[in-house]
Amino acid sequence: MDRHIDFGNIKVIPGQNGGRFPFCNTILIDDSIPAVIDPGAGLQQLQAVNQQKDIEIVINSHVHFDHICYNYVFDHSKIMVNEREAIYFQDRRKFIADSGVYEALGEEWANLWLQRIQEPDGPQTSYTPAYRHEWHLSLARLDETYCWGDVIDFGHSKMEIIPAPGHSPGFSVMYFPQEGIVYCSDIDLTKFGPWCQNSAQYIESARRVARLDADTFITGHESGIVSKDEFISRLDQYLDVIFIRDKMLLANLGSAVTFEELVRKGTFYGPKIFKDEFVYCWEWSMTKEHLQRLISQGLAAVENGKYICS
Ligand SMILES: [Zn+2]
Repeated sequence: MDRHIDFGNIKVIPGQNGGRFPFCNTILIDDSIPAVIDPGAGLQQLQAVNQQKDIEIVINSHVHFDHICYNYVFDHSKIMVNEREAIYFQDRRKFIADSGVYEALGEEWANLWLQRIQEPDGPQTSYTPAYRHEWHLSLARLDETYCWGDVIDFGHSKMEIIPAPGHSPGFSVMYFPQEGIVYCSDIDLTKFGPWCQNSAQYIESARRVARLDADTFITGHESGIVSKDEFISRLDQYLDVIFIRDKMLLANLGSAVTFEELVRKGTFYGPKIFKDEFVYCWEWSMTKEHLQRLISQGLAAVENGKYICS
């Protein structure tokens, strides 16, 4: 996606670098109440929006770095997030605990993170925005929460908040019924596949979103704007990545391994897990989520503290 796309009141600001992480495609609602959804497109683009429009509301679909990164730019706007994720603005320790940081990396790293993000020009990790100062700036203020099912009226356009758990606890998809537009954020059809906090919930949410009465689906990353037919046809392949990962993880179980040995095989992220602590933490979380599900399905088991295929 390489240009600004305009659906009347609703405009897409394409994320930098093709909307790849740690950027995302941002929605501008140019209405009586001007608003922005997921300010992650890039600093210059969003500073320009803030200068040109009197943005009243900034809405986050969930609290992940790439979707809240530039909240801080909108210093006169009301910042909103799902009530289920409001705690992450109030308690950073809770955020990293729920992200698996304490389990995967320990308290010392967690304390280092809390300190490092406060430094404007501190040292950074190789691949991820782990220590970026925007964490500190953009988690500093939350003004209001929304609930699943709420309708936000911007004047002409109305937006319904669709529950879509599975990616994060309060993950929300933004639906404009009058315009037939869905902003599906991190149900994003990328080649990498879904990031799941809970795969079963994610699949159910994605299928429900695909049934919304809309012609246009806007992903938070990469593809950008797709028709409903394209969204539906690509969704199967996208969700299949979850089952391909299951097979890869089962293959890596091989002879019995401890959980940590399994993580260190890098099933999902490969050798990058040894170069960047955040990637190691993602690998840990994803391994845990898949393994728990495979055990519940009887495909893996734990014996004497080691995991095996069954
Ligand atoms: Zn996300």
